Amino acid sequence: MCRECESAKLGRRNVLKFAAGGILAVGLNAMSWPARAADGAPTTLSPDEALAAMKSGNERYVANPELCSTDLAKQRGSVAGHQAPWATVISCADSRVPPELIFGGVGVGELFVARNAGNLLDTATLGTVEYGAAVLGSPLIVVLAHTSCGAVKAACDVMTKNATFPGAIGPMIDPILPAALAVREAPGDLVDNAAMESARRTAGRLTAASTVLSDLANAGKLKIAAGIYDLKTGVVAYLN
Ligand SMILES: [Zn+2]
Repeated sequence: MCRECESAKLGRRNVLKFAAGGILAVGLNAMSWPARAADGAPTTLSPDEALAAMKSGNERYVANPELCSTDLAKQRGSVAGHQAPWATVISCADSRVPPELIFGGVGVGELFVARNAGNLLDTATLGTVEYGAAVLGSPLIVVLAHTSCGAVKAACDVMTKNATFPGAIGPMIDPILPAALAVREAPGDLVDNAAMESARRTAGRLTAASTVLSDLANAGKLKIAAGIYDLKTGVVAYLN
């Protein structure tokens, strides 16, 4: 159940499961985003507060995975003139990993999201997260891997079976290979281990590749985290 439904103490009969307009809720604070939209200010959340909000949102998603009835049109109107996302997510394009849902039913104007197969870092993605942090003032970047990732599995298949893929798929997954090689002998599931290692490396690469991001991080204005989403349980575990 989303935070808005909880705060309104709505009964279950008022929760419209699968309502198209109800994905939302107010990821964070129902009272804060209209003000941000009005004055054009960035979020007031600190990096640590943003990470705590992501964690509590995922806990709500796991504990009460319903879609709630929420006034998305009202929220849309509030953010039409200005966005102040409080977190940035680099996630896989996998249809089972929608950040706005798995972080607790966060609606429009809350998360700044870059998605590609394998949650990898190319120029477009780097520029996107730089824009989120430096221009929009998002205080948190989460690199989100997930279990049983097809892109990571493809890279593992290249490594273990000399697999080949058509078109741009091969070059796309090449950046995963060093991570896969690094965990090749590790105990556990190769694909999930490689996904975690790749996410860790991507998170580390953000500050190494970008002075925009490293300057913000060094100033305490930006936190970068890596995590992995479990397709079966819905839980996001954060990686060291
Ligand atoms: Zn994936």
